[in-house]
Amino acid sequence: MRTLLTGGTILTCEEGMRVLPAAIVAIDGAEIVAVQPHPPEGFAPETIIDCSGCVVMPGMVNSHVHLGEHLLKGVLETIDFEELFYSKLFAWESHLTAEVIGRASTVAALESLRCGVTTVADMYHHAEATARAVELTGIRAVIGQKILGFPLSDPLQTGAGGNAFRFDAGAFKDQLAAACEFADRWHRGAEGRITVSLSPHATNTLEPWMLARVAEEAQRRSSLVHMHLAQMQAERDEVFSRHGLGCVDLLAETGLLNDRLLAAHSIFVSDRELSLLAEHRAAVAHNPIANAKDGGLVAPIASMLAHGVRIGLGTDAFHVNLLEAARFSAFLHRAHHGDPHFITAEQALSWATLGGARAVGLERSVGSLEPGKKADLVVIDMTALNLVPWTDAAAAVVYHAEPGNVKWGLVDGRVVVEEGGSRTVDPVAARREFTAATEELWSRMGISGGAR
Ligand SMILES: [Zn+2]
Repeated sequence: MRTLLTGGTILTCEEGMRVLPAAIVAIDGAEIVAVQPHPPEGFAPETIIDCSGCVVMPGMVNSHVHLGEHLLKGVLETIDFEELFYSKLFAWESHLTAEVIGRASTVAALESLRCGVTTVADMYHHAEATARAVELTGIRAVIGQKILGFPLSDPLQTGAGGNAFRFDAGAFKDQLAAACEFADRWHRGAEGRITVSLSPHATNTLEPWMLARVAEEAQRRSSLVHMHLAQMQAERDEVFSRHGLGCVDLLAETGLLNDRLLAAHSIFVSDRELSLLAEHRAAVAHNPIANAKDGGLVAPIASMLAHGVRIGLGTDAFHVNLLEAARFSAFLHRAHHGDPHFITAEQALSWATLGGARAVGLERSVGSLEPGKKADLVVIDMTALNLVPWTDAAAAVVYHAEPGNVKWGLVDGRVVVEEGGSRTVDPVAARREFTAATEELWSRMGISGGAR
């Protein structure tokens, strides 16, 4: 299938953020073959998409999300974040089934596409159910099955007081085996749209020897390691009190600190540790909304930039709107530093596109509009009331665009969003199945309230 997008303002999101007014994107099969003022000579499209009045840009990359955790949206959003891990989260997650996670992942993937996201880096339980949702919805994903150092259903030591996990070698080995089996079965799945990661949960929820085992398995597969890092004070304190190390130091000790590491958050890290992340070409998934909302926290972005740490943008749990995350990242850090010139719209957009692609290891395929890359792109209707008038495409998208402005979305050259609606899965049926599954789950977990 040859497709030609005509008449749009092309925001390539390459290094330097090139803009081509009234230009074309030519697609042959799954690949971009031209991004230029006029169609290539002899190119005979079977489909023409008129993008007049629109911005055409690469589909965004959400570099840290838990699609399946949409199930707990609403019920886990108002309690203290640091307590959450020890009192609620793991115990509640033990009730989740592949069926409900699949339904949540389908809805969250559809919503991601509607927000202009065409690639997600996901780590959660029952990863196969999320992979099936990726197959159905047509999104691209890097997926890891979450690995913990203790049984999910019984995470805490009884009578220990404080926050002490019940580390269990057998439970860890079972989870590692399941994660490796998932990775081996699904790498290059969904017609090549799925790549895989190994995903230990965090530095304080596994013991050092467990992290070292994950590093060995990741090394064997050359796979990404996507995990949480120094997300909260308790994580840093526990790691330091148990091992006398910072969280990044622990990753270095256990063989996880390298250019295949995607570390979500990275808030409670020293300047020296940030220089280690940069030196080893590890990437950080920055989740400004989740950090601010869950803990009133702000990641040390200025230090990360000063050290040259690679940065992608994520939404983390309960959210998938990366447009909102890009906007919030610019405003948050300007306010935090009292500097209206810090984090430009272009900077925020680059984290959401090429920066994210680099962070998840897919920069050769996605993240910018260039010949030879996958045809993963979105078309934003710039004639919408909330977007007129505009002059600077990147600034207009970051400061003003909403999910409803995403008119078209293509992944691998295939239309997945058409005139703002899903072309792959019926969203009404998906929502109905999801809410029914959620109500059943919540009643089993003793949570009151309707899922709608
Ligand atoms: Zn997370």
